[in-house]
Amino acid sequence: MTASPAAQSPARSTPGPRLLDIRRLWAEPEALASPRGQQVRALFPDAEIIPVASHWNIDRLHGNAGNIDRWIRVKTEDLVLGVKKSLTARENGRSADWIAPSTSNGCAMACAYCYVPRRKGYANPITVFTNIDKIVGYLGRHVRRQGPKKVPNQCDPQAWVYDLGENSDCSVDALVSDNVADLITAFRAWPTAKASFATKYVNRDLLDLDPRGRTRIRFSLMPEADSRLLDLRTTPIRQRIAAIDDFVAAGYEVHVNFSPVVVRPGWERDWAELLEQLGDGTGAAFKAQAAVEIIMLTHNEQLHEVNLGWHPKAEDLLWQPAVQQAKRSGSGMWNVRYRNNVKAAGVDTLTALIAERAPWLTVRYAF
Ligand code: SF4
Repeated sequence: MTASPAAQSPARSTPGPRLLDIRRLWAEPEALASPRGQQVRALFPDAEIIPVASHWNIDRLHGNAGNIDRWIRVKTEDLVLGVKKSLTARENGRSADWIAPSTSNGCAMACAYCYVPRRKGYANPITVFTNIDKIVGYLGRHVRRQGPKKVPNQCDPQAWVYDLGENSDCSVDALVSDNVADLITAFRAWPTAKASFATKYVNRDLLDLDPRGRTRIRFSLMPEADSRLLDLRTTPIRQRIAAIDDFVAAGYEVHVNFSPVVVRPGWERDWAELLEQLGDGTGAAFKAQAAVEIIMLTHNEQLHEVNLGWHPKAEDLLWQPAVQQAKRSGSGMWNVRYRNNVKAAGVDTLTALIAERAPWLTVRYAF
């Protein structure tokens, strides 16, 4: 059943000015006129409206030229409203069975390794897709077409898992619109499916959404020393761990996501400490259902060049040619990942640490 999204949404906290202080709404006219567009507009009544023909290729926001010095400002002060044109669920098989069509794109946070903005340039702020009814309707039909899951896999033994956040962070998206609330509400009514998203932000408003076990939140974790350097504008690791039990109690399935794992001197010691921190900071209910995905760092030559312009210290960690190899991606970019032997050794070390320090934590997959 498709809920009537705009009508059933709970109240939302006002986003704090540190992360979001929206001054400009770049809006496709159709998106602005829609109920969801009007809801976002009402949240930022003083923002200047700038009509745009498309949410793509907005010169003053996207691309890297001229934006390197100011993109934290762009991420803080600008928001885009658009209509999602093509609706497809893509097969995945790792984090989820399917990648759901995005309900947003871009992010207010600024992780140095983030691949999300690769198509718009790294200064991309959040774009909210306003045709949420169509997206929820499409997903409902897709879920029904699959029928029950007959063969358990590592994504989930029973439910078809749909990743909602491939191109954004849903916890922050929920600060600016009810799209995420509508999706959680919709999945609540689909017993053969489950929503899932990874997040680096604790948004306690999500605790009120009553997901009834049909949404999996994957809190992304890494040692604090790495996070302080790489995860800019995100919730500190300690606070992410401290939120886990509350999300379990609120009816979410909560997993963790060790991503990206960065190999550097002393990394094993710091990950062991993180596992202790996670074990000490969470209760039995979380541990009984906990699982993790491990994703070793992948980087990108173009992103490396961009980062040198604004955050070169991050590149001391991320760019390690002596232990990395390059591979051209389908889109023609040079992606960089750890050499096969380094990666295999890294995965072995971390899974052994988990077995020793957090034996209650199931490794869903390591990549
Ligand atoms: S939170 Fe996720 S989407 Fe946002 S910048 Fe970090 S990696 Fe990218």
